[in-house]
Amino acid sequence: MVDDLAAYAGAYQAGSGDPNAFYRLAFRTIRVALMQEGVLLDPLLSRAGERIGEELYPAVADPDTGAFCANIARFWEEHRLGRIEVAETEPLVLLVYDCFECVDLPVTGKPACAFDSGILRALFSRHYGRPAEAIETRCYSMGFDHCRFEIGVGGGGREECRTPE
Ligand SMILES: [Zn+2]
Repeated sequence: MVDDLAAYAGAYQAGSGDPNAFYRLAFRTIRVALMQEGVLLDPLLSRAGERIGEELYPAVADPDTGAFCANIARFWEEHRLGRIEVAETEPLVLLVYDCFECVDLPVTGKPACAFDSGILRALFSRHYGRPAEAIETRCYSMGFDHCRFEIGVGGGGREECRTPE
């Protein structure tokens, strides 16, 4: 993190600024600093993500799940949050490459994308009209080259409810 910031600062020349890259580095630095202070971040990040997902929903809404996922993928790419692929549809599984949240966090063996999970949970809860889950089963911080989210939907509607493997 600090090395990436040092590299950014070292390469910086007037006019070469990349606000997106800088905010990513700053976000990560804050996150790692809080983690190192022992702050339990995941519940906070998850709630913040949910709030963002709620607000974001109208920008990506589509009654068709495939089109909805494509809208989310386009939004992510446009904002350089990562590249989203739909890997499976039953249950719905999304893969995220170059995930802004975790791509160069230290490998801890545990999923790190509580923020992303919160956003996806809120988006899919609105989409399905009932509580959804976005469970991260693979992550850069677990040594994978992508993050993998399983979208589960609460029981009793048009979609089947499945327990993540
Ligand atoms: Zn992740």
